[in-house]
Formats: sequence, structure tokens, C-alpha cells
Amino acid sequence: MPPIKVTVVGSGNWGSVAAKLIASNTLKLASFHDEVRMWVFEETLPTGEKLSEVINKANENVKYLPGIKLGKNVVADPDLENAVRDATMLVFVTPHQFMEGICKRLVGKIRSDAEAISLIKGMEVKRDGPCMISSIISEHLGINCCVLMGANIANEIALEQFSEATVGYRKNKETADKWVKLFHTSYFMVSSVQDVEGVELCGTLKNVVAIAAGFVDGLEMGNNTKAAIIRIGLREMKAFSKLLFPSVKDSTFFESCGIADVITTCLGGRNRRCAEAFAKNGGKRSFDELEAEMLQGQKLQGVSTAKEVHEVLSHRGWLEHFPLFSSVHEICCGRLPPTAIVVYNEHTPDQS
Ligand code: NAD
Ligand code: 13P
Repeated sequence: MPPIKVTVVGSGNWGSVAAKLIASNTLKLASFHDEVRMWVFEETLPTGEKLSEVINKANENVKYLPGIKLGKNVVADPDLENAVRDATMLVFVTPHQFMEGICKRLVGKIRSDAEAISLIKGMEVKRDGPCMISSIISEHLGINCCVLMGANIANEIALEQFSEATVGYRKNKETADKWVKLFHTSYFMVSSVQDVEGVELCGTLKNVVAIAAGFVDGLEMGNNTKAAIIRIGLREMKAFSKLLFPSVKDSTFFESCGIADVITTCLGGRNRRCAEAFAKNGGKRSFDELEAEMLQGQKLQGVSTAKEVHEVLSHRGWLEHFPLFSSVHEICCGRLPPTAIVVYNEHTPDQS
């Protein structure tokens, strides 16, 4: 069997760390080709140089992951079609809003025996309902797509600080094992569960809870309030996931992709940080403005996810059962003040 070629589609903060993790393993594992291609959405840096050229010269993503060497076997490629051409393992890791466009560009360009994994936390809402990013990938490209989610603040993993992650798979445990092997290192412990929707919804919905936690921090409400937000948020995550996909397992919420990711994002994530600034400014500066100023090209997922979740809730008549999710959206778009994050009535989501 020829060695397996891996391509990472995306080169932001997490995309770059994913490439680093994978590249350390492809060097060690005989079944994989050493080189890891990383597709770069090309941009010109203030120095006038192209980002992909600088990554290849410095072996570092100077814009999205400065100060970290990616591994000499990571090759940045600004040509999407060329980057995926020979790969049989495709790792998708871009902000979720760009994925559908990327998938459309990839139709007919990938190998028919390719497998995919999505590290993307987010969803889309179509006319006929919500659509997870792994399904968009599977449907457009006609390939199987697993997911990898977890308590994974990229900058911490880049420093090789210990963390865990969860691979979610649909049917084939062997494929999941291959992904675990590709990502697992001594400081990044990966396990798998047969619950692709549960894992992906955990990763997606926790960003909405993190926005709520940021409001609490901006309003200086303290630890008990934040813990309450985390608990209520986790309960809404579970209820929403199970209403959408009754097959979602309770145990998934106790994996790294569940409770652990909610905690880390509510403590140290970008969604939390921008929401804190939003509340501190009394909602007077928009999230778009704060994102551009505070994240310098990195992207927030929680605000758009709150909007997408709100669309599903209002369309299905579930709004009153999800007070936290719905208030996050109302606050983000200025219809409620940040203080509304702790105004609850007695409706709670179904506990089943
Ligand atoms: P990021 O937030 O750093 O986003 C910036 C990336 O988006 C850059 O690579 C930029 O080139 C690219 N981009 C900008 N405009 C684009 C366009 N029009 N088309 C395509 N790409 C474009 O990205 P990230 O941190 O790698 O996040 C990717 C996904 O991984 C998200 O869903 C995020 O929630 C998830 N995630 C992030 C982290 C983290 O700590 N950063 C951890 C776990 C999961
Ligand atoms: P933020 O996008 O809020 O930084 O969250 C990162 C993450 O998903 C950690 O697991």
C-alpha cells in the first residue's frame, strides 16, 4: 500500500496547530507520507509578502500562530485544488461560514477513496432545517466525514500542554481509529465515540454558552453566576442536541467534547473574551467591530451560531424551552441588554 497522504484544509489558529500535531505523527508512522499539505487562504501581509510563502520560509504561521514551528514537513499551499489532489485523508478546519463555498470548489477535485474529518465548530441553517458541517462535507463531496472536537484552545496545544479530544464517528470504528492514530500524541490524548452528531453539536453549541459566560465576566457577576451559566448552558446543549438527533448519547456530554470544552471555552476562549468586551461596553460596540479589533483576522463562531440556533428554535416553536440560547442571540443583536443573561423565567428544557 502506498503511504497515506494527508491534507489540512485551513490554516488559521487551530488549523495551524492541527497541521503541527499531524506532521509530528506522519514523520513517525510508516503508513503515512511524511509531508502534510496545508491549504492557505492566501493573503498579503503588511510587509508585502504572501502568507503562504512566509509560512514555507519560516516554517511558522506568522499571522495566525506566531512563535510556533509547524514542522519542516508542513507545506503551505495556496492552491486548493493542488493541495487536495493526492490526499486520501482530508482534515477540514476553517471558520464554519467558509466551508460550503470551499466544498463547492472541491466537487470533482478530490480522490474518490478520500476520507474526511471536520474540526469545525459550527452549523448552517437551510430551508429544511439545521445542517451540520460534517454533513455539508459528506453531501457535497460524497465521502464519509468524522469529527474531532474537544477542550482544545489552540494556543495551549501549540505549547504542547496536555489536553484531550474526542473523535465522533458514524459506523466504521476502523476509520475512527485511523484518525485517532493521526492526531494522538503524548500531550494530545484522543479517544473515539460512535456519536458523530453528539460530538459535533457539543463543539458547536458550547460557543453560545461561552458568549453567555463572557457577558457574565463583563458584568463582573462572579464565579457562582458563571457556574450557573455553564450548568444551564450544558442542559440546553443536551436538550437541543437530543431534540434534533434522538440518537445523541448522554455519555458524549461527559467526554472532552462536552463538559470539558464548555469549561475551557468559558474560561479562556475567544468567544468569551469578545463577549466580555461587548458587555463591558454596554453592548454599544458591535461584535463585528470587536472581532476585527481583538482577534486580528481570527474568527468568532458563537455569535453566528447563536443566530442559527435561534432560527431553529423559533421555526420549531421551542424558544421558551431555551432561555439561555435565545437570550444570547437577543443580546448579541442589541434587542436585550447584556444584563438579561441572568433573567430567567421558569420554563426549562425537557430533561429527557
Ligand atoms: P481562525 O479563527 O484563526 O480563522 C482565520 C482563518 O480563516 C484564517 O486561516 C483565514 O485565512 C481564514 N479565512 C478568512 N477569510 C476566509 C475566506 N473567505 N475563505 C476561507 N478562509 C478564510 O481559524 P481557526 O482557529 O483555525 O478555527 C477553525 C475552526 O476550528 C473553527 O470552527 C473554530 O471554532 C474551531 N476551533 C478553533 C480552536 C481555537 O482555539 N482556535 C480550537 C478548536 C476548534
Ligand atoms: P474559541 O473559539 O472561543 O476560542 O474556542 C476555542 C475552542 O473551541 C476550544 O476548544
